[in-house]
Amino acid sequence: MNNSPTSVLPVDDDPAEVRLVQAALAATCDNPFRLEWVNRLADALERLGRHGFDVVLLGLTLPDGQRLATFHPLVEAAPNALILIPSPASDEESAHLALPGGVDEHVAAHSPPASYDAIERGASQGALCNGETFFRAISDASPLGIFVADAQGRCVYSNAAHHKISGRSLEQTLGTNWSRSIHPEDRQRVVAAWHAAARAQEPFQAEVRCLREDGSVVWARLNAAPLGDLGATQAQVQTVEDISVRKSMESVLQAAEEALFEERERARVTLNSIGDAVLTTDLLGNVSYLNLVAEAMTGWSREEALGRPLSEVFRIIDGTTRQAAANPVQRVIDEDRSLGLIADCLLVRRDGAEYAIEDSAAPIHNRYGRVVGAVIVFHDVSKSRAMTLKMAHLAQHDVLTGLANRSLLTERLAHAIALARRHAKQVALLFLDLDHFKDINDSLGHVAGDQLLQSLASRLAACVRTTDTVCRQGGDEFVILLADIEQPQDAAHVAEKLHAACAAPQLVGGHELHVTLSVGISVYPDDGGDADTMMRNADTAMYHAKASGRNSYQFFTADMNTRAVRRLLVESSLRRALEENEFVLHYQPQIDLASGTMAGAEALVRWRDPDRGLVYPGEFLAIAEECGLIVPIGRWVLREACRQVQAWLDAGLQVVPVAVNISAVEFRHRDFLEGVARILQETGLASRYLELELTESTLMHDAESSVAVLEALKAMGIRLAIDDFGTGYSSLGYLKRFPIGTLKIDQSFVRDIATGADDATIVSTVIGMARNLRQRVIAEGVETREQLAFLQTQRCDEGQGFQFSHPLSAEDFARLLRGGNDLPPWCRPAGWKRGCVFHSKPGWDSTRTRTAIPP
Ligand code: C2E
Ligand code: CA
Ligand code: CA
Repeated sequence: MNNSPTSVLPVDDDPAEVRLVQAALAATCDNPFRLEWVNRLADALERLGRHGFDVVLLGLTLPDGQRLATFHPLVEAAPNALILIPSPASDEESAHLALPGGVDEHVAAHSPPASYDAIERGASQGALCNGETFFRAISDASPLGIFVADAQGRCVYSNAAHHKISGRSLEQTLGTNWSRSIHPEDRQRVVAAWHAAARAQEPFQAEVRCLREDGSVVWARLNAAPLGDLGATQAQVQTVEDISVRKSMESVLQAAEEALFEERERARVTLNSIGDAVLTTDLLGNVSYLNLVAEAMTGWSREEALGRPLSEVFRIIDGTTRQAAANPVQRVIDEDRSLGLIADCLLVRRDGAEYAIEDSAAPIHNRYGRVVGAVIVFHDVSKSRAMTLKMAHLAQHDVLTGLANRSLLTERLAHAIALARRHAKQVALLFLDLDHFKDINDSLGHVAGDQLLQSLASRLAACVRTTDTVCRQGGDEFVILLADIEQPQDAAHVAEKLHAACAAPQLVGGHELHVTLSVGISVYPDDGGDADTMMRNADTAMYHAKASGRNSYQFFTADMNTRAVRRLLVESSLRRALEENEFVLHYQPQIDLASGTMAGAEALVRWRDPDRGLVYPGEFLAIAEECGLIVPIGRWVLREACRQVQAWLDAGLQVVPVAVNISAVEFRHRDFLEGVARILQETGLASRYLELELTESTLMHDAESSVAVLEALKAMGIRLAIDDFGTGYSSLGYLKRFPIGTLKIDQSFVRDIATGADDATIVSTVIGMARNLRQRVIAEGVETREQLAFLQTQRCDEGQGFQFSHPLSAEDFARLLRGGNDLPPWCRPAGWKRGCVFHSKPGWDSTRTRTAIPP
């Protein structure tokens, strides 16, 4: 080993630079050195000529040097010296580029001390070539860790970088096995691989974790190779590279990749689980993605659809016009904003099936905010759209028959009239009413009635054009709008068709039904300029058709006055009612207020109209009187009442006298007395069971002749009553002369007796007067307990009204007669003393015992 100091010649005009070099050498070089300083090139050449130097440190800013070109003489002057250029950073490049022959390398000024190892290296050129110091200087300069192991794997040499990586000093490392610094978890694997490589005499490589002395972990890359004989042993050199930074970068990258994968997976699962269809395109409008729903709805699989133009995969049309609808994607991309699809949009699937769809398209941006494509999100709204249509249909159609309802008809009629006005056309309205529908409904039940209406509805609809409207107006009434006719005769033609269509028997619930229609027709503009008038006039014409014998049609004519027409209809119906025996009698009990017994009953007529059901006398008696039908009707009532009472007597029931109402027309009819006598004779009823009720006005109309008729009736043993007493103008004189047994106080007075002082006075006056005239008094229309209580305090004889009983059918009334004490609760006057229920009394008994009525 050569121990002479290393000679160093700095050639630099900057003394500070030289001082730095000197300090660095002193701090880092193990060997002693001798330093001589010159600041000019000429001086340097002179010194080198005198004696050699191991190292020349050449500055680039010499006063007599032309930068790099001047170095050739220097190289020639010191062929064995190591020439280094401690160049400042800015000059680095030029120093590099122009490194002349003999200039070994540049040394960065102020660079870490390790850089100066080169000086040592240079200093020991030759002499130090084989020395450990030299070798260590080289190896310590390396950023790679170096670990030299003997055949047993024990450390015989390690460099500074290795110490830094392993966290162990040279002393701690020497003699230890190389695997000692391997992380225990990696050790077994790495050692096994190392052995395998050693056996095969192959280089060994591994990336491992090193566990440092302080417990921290460093990732390192190991490279091992045999080193040949090292003092009779097989040695191995290992380089150790700190790859922690790369590894942490890798793990960051891996984490990012995993996060990306998770994100993608989440998106994929989400897109395939949502109910909406999602489809994306690139900037050119070619399909780039479809989720499962979009696949199902378009009929295109993702693989097939990818890259195809959107219009091919996502075919949409306008549901109303059925024209291709504008694809939203181009606009979305052009305008860079979200857009909704057109309303009423239909998606045509690949196989032609159609879906009503709804929704929107939006642009997709890249990370720089630039549009790179678009996404369309849509869903099937067929069901909700169908539901909306259904709701709209329900609002305008009849549920039972599916025909248009009144509201839709009104709308269409108004529209048709407006059109007809503009084009000088005509519109016809046919008002249809089923004859005798009520009969069918009552006898066969509602279900059968409904079936009949349904079957009829389809027959009617088949008779008209699709542009016409068939409407169910309600019940058994239908209206047909013929929106465009040439002449009224066209409507007549349709009416005939309707009749023909109805003529065929209808099978309903196992019954073969024959139904007929009455049709009224009104025509725009002749019979009305607006929907209301047209409807009213068609209705009137329909009544006319019914009146003139049903199963016919009738055009409206100006002389058809609605009231007159309806009257006509009632009249014709009444005639039929007589023939068809459609009248029935109900019986309302009259109660003796003192005893609580039933003292009599009033027969009240009802009409079972096959069209309208049960009709009350208020609706038809006035017409019957006007047209004279009251006479045969009255005769029927009288005969029926007598027949019924006699039948009850024959059945052994305890019967009360029954009162029959006689109208003025009947009373004055010349055959009246004779008719009554004949009926009594025919039915065999004893006259004491019959009472006749005549109104005040009937009797006062021709009071003289009234007296005569009444006397004759009385002579026949028939009881007589003045009905609705108080409403006419009876003269007391006549009242005394009329052989009347009963006064019936009109309901209008009874109604207010408990509240109105006037009515109470009238009622008590009438009661007092009747008592003086020795007449029996019946209060009509007794509805409340208060009214009853008042009448009782006034000692009114009898009461009739809902408080006791409504008028009853013959069967129900017979049950009442039969029941005795077993009366239905509604029959018992409210507040009646227990045990004091009605008793029917045989015959008329003027010597009735009065029972004290409890308060
Ligand atoms: P009316 O002779 O005064 O008969 C009593 C009317 O009052 C009946 O009406 C009866 O149902 C009703 N009524 C009974 N109790 C009450 C009550 O508590 N409150 C109220 N508000 N009303 C009660 P209906 O049966 O509708 O008869 C109406 C009218 O028609 C009768 O009045 C009578 O004038 C006439 N009428 C009824 N049947 C015949 C008949 O066979 N021949 C004739 N010529 N006229 C009849
Ligand atoms: Ca009456
Ligand atoms: Ca009355």
